[in-house]
Amino acid sequence: MKTLDRFRGPRISVDNDRCEVFGICVWEAPALFQLDRDGRLRYRRQLQEEDFEQAAAAARCCPMQAIVLRGMQDE
Ligand code: SF4
Repeated sequence: MKTLDRFRGPRISVDNDRCEVFGICVWEAPALFQLDRDGRLRYRRQLQEEDFEQAAAAARCCPMQAIVLRGMQDE
């Protein structure tokens, strides 16, 4: 899996079974997470280096620990 992560590059994954759509990630990282008109969470999966800080802040603040960052470091 490590090789596959490197191939795909840094990215966000949200566990929909955990996410309760509180929207805290939208406040923490508005460039990455949005709520659509139907109240569903949308997010940008592929990360650029300049996104890492916001992505990490969103993952830290998610009360459901639904946000997982992959491919950002050796796992
Ligand atoms: S902060 Fe977590 S629980 Fe809330 S919308 Fe974002 S991913 Fe879902």
